[in-house]
Amino acid sequence: MPERTDSDSRKLLGRLRDAMAGDVAGQARLDKITNLIATSMGCEVCSIYLFRDENTLELCATEGLNKDAVHKTRMKVGEGLVGRVAKQRRVINTPNAPQAKGFRYMPETGEEIFSSFLGIPIQRLGDALGVLVVQSKMAREFSADEVYALEVVAMVLAEMTELGVFVGEGDAMSARHSQPVLLRGTVGQDGVAEGHVWLHEPRVVVSNPIADDPEREAVRLQEAVDTLRLSVDQMLTMSIGDKDQQQVIEAYRMFANSKSWMRRMQEDIELGLSAEAAVEKEQSLARARIGQSADAYLRERLSDLDDLSNRLLRILTGQGTDTGAERPRDPILVARNIGPAELLEYGRSLRGIVLENGSVGSHAAIVARALAIPLIVHAERISTEALNGDHIMVDGEQGIVHLRPDDTVAAAFRDKIAMHAAAQERYSSIRDKPATTTCGQTIALHMNAGLMADLPSLESSGAEGVGLFRTELQFLIRNQMPQRSELSMLYARVLDAAKGKQVVFRTLDIGSDKVLPYMKPNDEPNPAMGWRAIRVGLDKPGIMRMQLQALFRAANGGPLTVMFPFVAQFEEFRAAREEVNKTLAREERLGHTLPSSLKVGAMLETPSLAFAPRKFFEEVDFLSIGGNDLKQFFFAADRENERVRKRYDTLNVSFLTFLQNIAERCAQTDTPVSFCGEDAGRPVEALCFAAIGFRTLSMRPASIGPVKSLLRRCNLEEARAVIDAARERGDQSVRGAIMEYVREQY
Ligand code: PEP
Ligand code: MG
Repeated sequence: MPERTDSDSRKLLGRLRDAMAGDVAGQARLDKITNLIATSMGCEVCSIYLFRDENTLELCATEGLNKDAVHKTRMKVGEGLVGRVAKQRRVINTPNAPQAKGFRYMPETGEEIFSSFLGIPIQRLGDALGVLVVQSKMAREFSADEVYALEVVAMVLAEMTELGVFVGEGDAMSARHSQPVLLRGTVGQDGVAEGHVWLHEPRVVVSNPIADDPEREAVRLQEAVDTLRLSVDQMLTMSIGDKDQQQVIEAYRMFANSKSWMRRMQEDIELGLSAEAAVEKEQSLARARIGQSADAYLRERLSDLDDLSNRLLRILTGQGTDTGAERPRDPILVARNIGPAELLEYGRSLRGIVLENGSVGSHAAIVARALAIPLIVHAERISTEALNGDHIMVDGEQGIVHLRPDDTVAAAFRDKIAMHAAAQERYSSIRDKPATTTCGQTIALHMNAGLMADLPSLESSGAEGVGLFRTELQFLIRNQMPQRSELSMLYARVLDAAKGKQVVFRTLDIGSDKVLPYMKPNDEPNPAMGWRAIRVGLDKPGIMRMQLQALFRAANGGPLTVMFPFVAQFEEFRAAREEVNKTLAREERLGHTLPSSLKVGAMLETPSLAFAPRKFFEEVDFLSIGGNDLKQFFFAADRENERVRKRYDTLNVSFLTFLQNIAERCAQTDTPVSFCGEDAGRPVEALCFAAIGFRTLSMRPASIGPVKSLLRRCNLEEARAVIDAARERGDQSVRGAIMEYVREQY
């Protein structure tokens, strides 16, 4: 085989472009392309396999293999050499394919006579689209130049596939981004929504992957990179004084000035790619490496490179340098991930949110809940599958996303939305009624909050008060530590909006996943069990004092309720209370009005506190169970880790027995106790908590209706008997038995 030169590659790309431009059907285009590649590479075979669905590759065109196998030969990802290229997203180059690991004989193709095999993944920005294969009879390994040239061709094929140029009437191909897709994720906030995709980071569309004039493209690239470098330098100047931010931007700058990055892109242009396609080729390789790298530092640097490539593409295509595409009607935000502050900027205008990453316990999820916007996290592939403006339906009950749904799915989904609306109406009819069970027990239902925007829900949900006000959200959404006066004003507004209903302010709960952007991050091996919440408060009393003063002043001579998070032992509570007393005395000395009454409570979020001395239960004004944390420590299962989180049922008999012991200890000392973790908002869980002795539950506002509705139908003594019987039988969880009881009540 002759040595390949840059001009050979350019010629091949030029011919490919002509093949694309002609007025022929999609299949004819594909056939022509395989013929062109085989001839140009001097190989007997060239085949293109594209994804038929998420797991299946299909032979879509071939030069040299049996043509009857086209659209018939299929393989699963990982199966055979082609399947392995797709799975590993790596080139396979072997002189002796039948002997290679994983080779699978496909008799219908007649490929057994071909010895050498070169398979290249067709991928775009980390999204696998197919595999390009060349084969020849002669047993030889393909040279590095040949592999490189074919990678460039694969990149162009990826762009063409993306643009839908292989779609035509009468063939088996379908355009990407036009087919219905169903994606499964995890529910972050329930609810159902229909609308249109609004991409947080819009995809840049490259419509000209091939270019004739490499010199011109090189100049375009250089100009764009100059603009990019200038903007990074500006970012650096703006961040002066902020060391952490500067470090990040310095790393960016290093990439923006990287000679090897620039050189690789220039080489791609030499081979015939346009400047945009060259940037994207490098970006695709970086994304594939992100997925494969186990090294967190490397992954982060590759993400920087990804971000820079995006900026560069936007400069080159003129598709806007700022984030956010045009807002479609009924927007449903789609993003790889998003921070709480960014989400707040979008605000209530969103109908729903779908994230590719994210986690249920993250602060973006808490903000979504506060805004009552249905949220699905971990919807794999959503950011590459969705296009701005696509029709989308979010099922925040089942954790399903329907992208570009067909008519049948859309009709069924609309029925679901209607049923949801009817249920909401039923809940609003009992809004002003108490959550009194059929045995005459009344359970107080409070709501969890964290933003001023939550307060109107006090009225609309019928909550008796705010059982948990997460004060850290105010700290998390800012770029610098909020001032005491600012906080005081905010807390005063919260109290005003509560119109005399009780608000339980929880002092700052930072650490773990809640890292303040302006505080030096602590590199802790296990942050959930690290320096967080009251531990930070006691070690840095300045912040705690400042927050307590803000709260005392906000009370403006009225009653106030405060609680400390994550208390693990009596001594910590005593020390915090001591700090409260000192701060009160100081306020008095300064001439400020003190609250008319002050209740100081603790959150029970670690098993240790359940076994604290009786004296603790007598001294604390009230207790609130943080079930999210308590459960993760009880079962040693990280609440942020989707893999283990769901392994242990809240209705596990051991956990309920543990909770019941806490309720009994509180009853012995007359210590008021409530349950405020997310589980309190799940009707069946709420029923069990009430049955084992909890009389106050705090939950997100949207859960109050469903919880109240169930409690009003049930008898706590009967529910308790169901739990006791399950325990007696040795059941692992009471869920099965209690569900049966619940069904009987309807
Ligand atoms: C909890 O742990 O249950 C709790 C209410 O606190 P957070 O979810 O904010 O950690
Ligand atoms: Mg907690």
